[in-house]
Amino acid sequence: MPARGVFIYLQGAEPIVEFLKGQLETTPTDCVAVDREMGTSVPGVFAVGDPLGLHVKQALMAADHGVMAAMAVSK
Ligand SMILES: Cc1cc2nc3c(=O)[nH]c(=O)nc-3n(C[C@H](O)[C@H](O)[C@H](O)COP(=O)(O)OP(=O)(O)OC[C@H]3O[C@@H](n4cnc5c(N)ncnc54)[C@H](O)[C@@H]3O)c2cc1C
Repeated sequence: MPARGVFIYLQGAEPIVEFLKGQLETTPTDCVAVDREMGTSVPGVFAVGDPLGLHVKQALMAADHGVMAAMAVSK
């Protein structure tokens, strides 16, 4: 099929977190565990967006988490 470009669809809404296993604490559903300021089990490492495994995965949620993480970093 002739095409001028393609979008590679990796795994949809499933976050890519396999490479984090054993490095960050994860939840029973294999998502990254964070505290209320988006801090992970490793001090200074923050996680936001789809890897948190919330039932709503939307860009606005990821941005919201990003603000919380940035505020925590700033603090
Ligand atoms: C088909 C589809 C349609 C969607 N439509 C909407 C919509 O209309 N509105 C909406 O609000 N949300 C929509 N979403 C959801 C939205 O895209 C996500 O919730 C949002 O992008 C999550 O942001 P994120 O930063 O967590 O992850 P992402 O935006 O996926 O960013 C993760 C980034 O990390 C990079 N990455 C991955 N692994 C590595 C690695 N090992 N090293 C370095 N970089 C890496 C990836 O390339 C990517 O750039 C849609 C999702 C899909 C799949």
